[in-house]
Amino acid sequence: MKSLVLEKKQALSLRDFPAIDKAEETLAPHDVRIKIHTVGICGSDVHYYTHGHIAPFVVNAPMILGHEASGTVIEVGTVVTSLKEGDRVCMEPGIPDPSSKATRLGLYNIDPAVRFWATPPVHGILRPTCVHPEAFTFKLPDNVSFAEAAMVEPLAVGVHAATKARVRPGDNAVVLGAGPIGLVTALAALAAGCARVYVTDLAQRKLDIAGSLSPAIVPVNAQSENLVDIVLSHTDGWGVDVVFEATGFPPCCQSCL
Ligand SMILES: [Zn+2]
Repeated sequence: MKSLVLEKKQALSLRDFPAIDKAEETLAPHDVRIKIHTVGICGSDVHYYTHGHIAPFVVNAPMILGHEASGTVIEVGTVVTSLKEGDRVCMEPGIPDPSSKATRLGLYNIDPAVRFWATPPVHGILRPTCVHPEAFTFKLPDNVSFAEAAMVEPLAVGVHAATKARVRPGDNAVVLGAGPIGLVTALAALAAGCARVYVTDLAQRKLDIAGSLSPAIVPVNAQSENLVDIVLSHTDGWGVDVVFEATGFPPCCQSCL
């Protein structure tokens, strides 16, 4: 098996990648070695391919893509206790600095020093194996497939959004954008207690998927329907309790308000 390497903007190759930092691949006492099974393709992977950069992160050297992954443990470090060879797992893609201020505040996901897969210069996970800390590797229940497990990372984005929004039972919400993040956010909002979630997009194909996920999801085509009119007519003129923005399109941010 070979690695998927972004050589530079708009140039991918599937090849051996001997240049992965040897120290990274050495198994430390708290690490596990994982044979990768399934990796999702994130919007950010596509963005690095098409644009060669995201904000300050620039692809200046060949980089392996991918950060949403599942696989099987093939080796464990000397002090690992929660995992063993043969365990099916999924992984958190960011490794924070354990002594940073953010980590000590319990906000390790926003540690500025986090090493996040497939964010230059850190290599991603579309490769045969990886070494990862036990603390950021999670054993899968038998009823969760490798493909579902690779979706845990994007799903976590939706769960985090619903948590931050403090959704309460019976709330109504709008999710702007029916891409993968919009859909996992809609599902997380329902799981958190929303009674109804309106999901809006321009692409009917995505809205059809949204509508198929739950009878409590109301797809709204922003090209042919007026979201505000629909929401106000369904809520006796009150509106929704929560709006999630999942398009990244600036005019949509304004319409949240
Ligand atoms: Zn991603």
